[in-house]
Amino acid sequence: MRVKSYRKEFALPPNPKARHLRCYAHLDGNIGELLPHLNTVLGGHQYDKETPSLTLKFKGKLITLYSQMIAINILKDEAEADSILEWLRREINETWKRRREIEPSYEVSAKPRILDILRLLPKTNCQQCGQATCMVFATQVSEGVSCPDDCPPMDEPSRRKLQKYLDAYQPACWS
Ligand code: SF4
Repeated sequence: MRVKSYRKEFALPPNPKARHLRCYAHLDGNIGELLPHLNTVLGGHQYDKETPSLTLKFKGKLITLYSQMIAINILKDEAEADSILEWLRREINETWKRRREIEPSYEVSAKPRILDILRLLPKTNCQQCGQATCMVFATQVSEGVSCPDDCPPMDEPSRRKLQKYLDAYQPACWS
């Protein structure tokens, strides 16, 4: 069903040194039956038929959609939560409108290949991204928890090429 509104609740992560927020948005409608359709549209990272829940990874965020709740981690602030939640509300309502044309999916989508990502990185293991090696960083990019902008020394043509490669695996998300 459609989502008209939601009630936000914020929580701090268990590590007291961490500065980011978690957000739980309690939905006014039940989207449980729509989750396989959303999996098709949004390219889920994990789909759990039992719960049911659909986990997405976009721009370093882990977003989990449940029947009546959306949980988002690693948020900078409330404005970022609003931007993601409004994008999701539009996607949910559009998917609901088109649900008869969309083939539901119970599988998770393919991930970008680590070696393809590594090929485009500077491969200096400089650690400016906060990771021990470029290989670790490439793994994180493949998992969707880091993005090309997190590698400061990467040149612009390689950054654009890598983003284009990643875009082929992920649908457009919030800006
Ligand atoms: S910042 Fe870029 S070049 Fe340096 S270790 Fe990380 S991925 Fe490799």
